[in-house]
Amino acid sequence: MDPLPNCRLCPRLVHYRENVLPKEKYQNQIYSKKPVPGFGDFCGRLFVLGLAPSSHGGNRTGRIFTGDDTGRFLFPILFEEGFANQPFSESSQDNLVLSDCYLTAAVKCAPPKDRPTPEEFSCCSGFWWQELQSLPHVQAVLLFGHLSFTVLQKELKKRKHLQHTLPFVHGKSYKIPSFPKVYLSYHPSPRNTLTGKLTKEMLKNVLQEIKRDFS
Ligand code: SF4
Repeated sequence: MDPLPNCRLCPRLVHYRENVLPKEKYQNQIYSKKPVPGFGDFCGRLFVLGLAPSSHGGNRTGRIFTGDDTGRFLFPILFEEGFANQPFSESSQDNLVLSDCYLTAAVKCAPPKDRPTPEEFSCCSGFWWQELQSLPHVQAVLLFGHLSFTVLQKELKKRKHLQHTLPFVHGKSYKIPSFPKVYLSYHPSPRNTLTGKLTKEMLKNVLQEIKRDFS
C-alpha cells in the first residue's frame, strides 16, 4: 500500500497541514490537509520537481500547483508549450491532462511560510525519488528553485551519481552520468514572478530547450 496518503513522519508539517485556517474566499471548501502526490503523464519525458504544496493551493485542492498563484503562472505556459490540455488548474476535478510531463514536489506536505526544514526534505525524499524511478521514459528533470536542486544533488550523491556540488544558475542544464539531463529554473512562485525575477519568457525558454533536447 502507498504510505503517502497517511504519512505522519514530519510532526511540524502534519500539524500545519491539518490546522491551516481556510482563506475567506475558500470558507465553503473542504481542505484536503493531506500529503499531495505528484500527477501527470506516466509515460512522460519531462519530470518537474517543485518545492512543496502551498497552504491554500495543493493543501486545499489535493493536487500540486492547483488552485494557487504558482499554478496560475505555470499552467498557461505548460499549455502553450504543449504539456497541458488547458491553461488553468483550479481544482482536482477540472479535467486537466498533462502530456509528456509529470509534476511533483520535493516535500509532499504544505510547510509554514513555504519553507520546509532540511530534515523534512530528507524525510520526504524517498517519495519523489520513488515517483521518478517509476516513470520509465523520463529524459529531463526540471528543478524549480535552488532548494529543489540542493535536494536532488543530495540524493544523487547518496546514490553515487554525483561527487561535486553544482551551482544553481537559472537556465543552466547539466548532464549527469546514469541520470536524465537536469535543467534549472527559478521557482514560478509569486515571490519570483511578481518581482520579475522569473518571467513567462524565461520559463518558456527553458521548456523549449528541453523539447529541443528530447530524442
Ligand atoms: S512531508 Fe513527506 S515525509 Fe513529511 S509527513 Fe509529509 S509526506 Fe510524510
